[in-house]
Amino acid sequence: MTLSPTTAPDPRGLDDAGTVDVAVVGAGQAGLSAAWHLRRRGFVAPWEPAAAGRRTFVVLDGEDGPGGAWRHRWKSLRMATVNKVHDPPGMALPTVDPAEPSRDAVPRYYAAYEREADLPVVRPARVTRVESSRPDDGASPLRVTLADGRTLLARTLVNATGTWTKPFWPYYPGQETFLGRQLHTADYVRAEDFAGQHVVVVGGGISAVQLLAEISEVATTTWVTRREPVWRDDEFTQRAGHDAVALVDERVRAGLPPGSVVSVTGLILTPALRAAAARGVLVRRPMFDRITPDGVAWADGTEQHADAILWATGFRAALDHLAPLHLRGPGGGIVMDGTRVVGEPRVQLVGYGPSASTIGANRAGRDAAREVSRYLDALPAPAK
Ligand SMILES: Cc1cc2nc3c(=O)[nH]c(=O)nc-3n(C[C@H](O)[C@H](O)[C@H](O)COP(=O)(O)OP(=O)(O)OC[C@H]3O[C@@H](n4cnc5c(N)ncnc54)[C@H](O)[C@@H]3O)c2cc1C
Repeated sequence: MTLSPTTAPDPRGLDDAGTVDVAVVGAGQAGLSAAWHLRRRGFVAPWEPAAAGRRTFVVLDGEDGPGGAWRHRWKSLRMATVNKVHDPPGMALPTVDPAEPSRDAVPRYYAAYEREADLPVVRPARVTRVESSRPDDGASPLRVTLADGRTLLARTLVNATGTWTKPFWPYYPGQETFLGRQLHTADYVRAEDFAGQHVVVVGGGISAVQLLAEISEVATTTWVTRREPVWRDDEFTQRAGHDAVALVDERVRAGLPPGSVVSVTGLILTPALRAAAARGVLVRRPMFDRITPDGVAWADGTEQHADAILWATGFRAALDHLAPLHLRGPGGGIVMDGTRVVGEPRVQLVGYGPSASTIGANRAGRDAAREVSRYLDALPAPAK
């Protein structure tokens, strides 16, 4: 066997892996948690000498290195300014310098975690398509195709692909005529890039207000949102967090799309945001109606010049590769029971909906490992 997690993948390596019991797709917090729990349950990498007769798993990650989406966070999102990164199972996050950018500290930690827990992560391995290997047999292994053409058969799939790779840009008339710069949160690097400019920040979520606050230190800004933002002045207690997760869980059980985090948590007034409010920055205007070459315009005839429009309009679940499985129902979402896709018992979704946080991802990883074990236990012996 030529493929190992620490060597450059041999193009034939995954084919040599035969049919694995579980393919975990994505190595952010959710995928790492699932992988850790699978290891704990005795699953091994297909290339391990001890693999014969054991259940096998691999982790396929689209990145060039460890860290999941944290590799791409903007530089000023420091360990002191993230909400909280919860320890993945089995290994505590070491004490870090609060001033260190999260995009350095978290990937360094995940790299150590993958090594210590001996997780069989293959990268870069971007999955482009997952389908039934026998379309008329809902218990047949799934065929997993990678961007480079490699394929793998997997009896079950734990999908942990997060949202970062699927930024959401709404369309407004005139968008293509704008002569300034348009960018999404996913493209944002540093406030200094906008020094002396006028920036229109679009969006009512946590990223929008954080970026608005920091850009407003070096540029003038206009803030627009579709709905009036809901601020919460109280502390975001464990109880409030629990209630927010329960609301999202209810939505996905009913087959609705999960909705944004802030729609259930509200916006928390952090010290940085209080300071921005005191500078008069958090004055929200309703959404503009169209984009002009020079800026944005409202139906009442008012216009605002802009050098840049920052679309802090969120992300969607990165599930395009699962389209051949037709998981979405009429409500636009995927009917879920915990991490299990109700209509497709071979697939678990972790880091999706109620588990889209580092703490939720930890629990979902554990639950998904339990669910796939149950599924494999119930498979008729000849199919294994
Ligand atoms: C700006 C920002 C700040 C946040 N701060 C916090 C915080 O402080 N605390 C908190 O709990 N949560 C925070 N979150 C939410 C956070 O994203 C999650 O909590 C968690 O880190 C997501 O983990 P994940 O494993 O689901 O996804 P990710 O970390 O996004 O990992 C997904 C992985 O899957 C890979 N992938 C995607 N598609 C494919 C594919 N087709 N094939 C193979 N691999 C693929 C990606 O490349 C990536 O490596 C924040 C989110 C944002 C946007």
